[in-house]
Amino acid sequence: MRRETRIAHGSPPPLERATIHPYADGVPGPVYYQRDAHPVGLEAERVLGELEGGSALLFGSGSAATMAVALALLTPGATVAVADGGYFGTVGLLAGPLRRWGLQVVGFDQRATPPLSELVWLEPCSNPLMTFPDLDVSIAEAHRRGARVIVDNTVLSPYLLRPLEHGADLVLHSATKILAGHHDALIGVVTCARDEDAEALRAFRGTSGIGAAPDPAWLMLRGLRTLALRAPRQSASALELARRLSDHPAVLRVRYPGLGDPVAARYVEAFGPLLSFDVADAARALAVERGLGLIENATSLGGVASTLEARARWEGDRVPPGLLRLSVGLEDVEDLWADLDAALARASPRDDHKAADRSA
Ligand code: PLP
Repeated sequence: MRRETRIAHGSPPPLERATIHPYADGVPGPVYYQRDAHPVGLEAERVLGELEGGSALLFGSGSAATMAVALALLTPGATVAVADGGYFGTVGLLAGPLRRWGLQVVGFDQRATPPLSELVWLEPCSNPLMTFPDLDVSIAEAHRRGARVIVDNTVLSPYLLRPLEHGADLVLHSATKILAGHHDALIGVVTCARDEDAEALRAFRGTSGIGAAPDPAWLMLRGLRTLALRAPRQSASALELARRLSDHPAVLRVRYPGLGDPVAARYVEAFGPLLSFDVADAARALAVERGLGLIENATSLGGVASTLEARARWEGDRVPPGLLRLSVGLEDVEDLWADLDAALARASPRDDHKAADRSA
């Protein structure tokens, strides 16, 4: 039986069982206290481990998972090379609060060789600049220089990409996104290639209390049952919208690896639900947000409902002022296009930047 069928057929354990703390004959069992483990979490970790091909551990959020990796697996004062243009909160955490722990964060273009470091942090389909690393080459090069490699696989999910199969040591997810899939859970995951990393993370999670509660673990487990349907469908709609946006006169640039990135095409057959596109300036980007009807103006991504957000609001000059990030959900692609097209027209009623460029 194929993996997707097994996962779709399993049923999440009843949530109330997670509150039982069983001892057997006076000896505490594996789920004796929820901070260490609970039945729903163990089942979610089993399914995710199977999907990704390693030992999965749940955390309270993707950011909690990032913190656990830094504090449990790195040495104080370590240098971490983090892909430019990836999730801004990763650098915000490592170079912000964790700087007091001596971490040195170096940014680099993940399409090139990673710099010397203890840990290389890659993000295929980086959020929101959508770059894609040559995983096999970068991982081999990092290992040759003695670094470990973590891949933030939030955007693609293990349905589309399994980084451990390319030699990554660790995979991180904000499972808040496509894994749980419904914008109603906050949860994170680290999947480890090596048991000793999993043990170190498990011990840190138990003592620090940053694990996932049963309820979001249950929501994620339920979401995983439909991942094999959602990931390809959301990717197909994202590709279609990326193509149409590329031809839209008010759009200066579309960022989506599915539009001909030869490196990405060597690793994945579909390119995930997330894309970014640039309009002329910040004012127009905010006007597009406000002009939407169907697509929600919201910050999360990967869920069944499409969301869009002007990212300069949060990321400042890390991104172009007119950059809009669109996460494509399960709505009919024609409805999504009608909504985008109308919002773009309202935001730039008389603009035709491409026409202007062409005549220049
Ligand atoms: N990694 C990526 C790529 C993300 O997009 C996010 C959140 O947006 C995170 C990590 C952090 O996850 P969380 O919001 O679950 O803490």
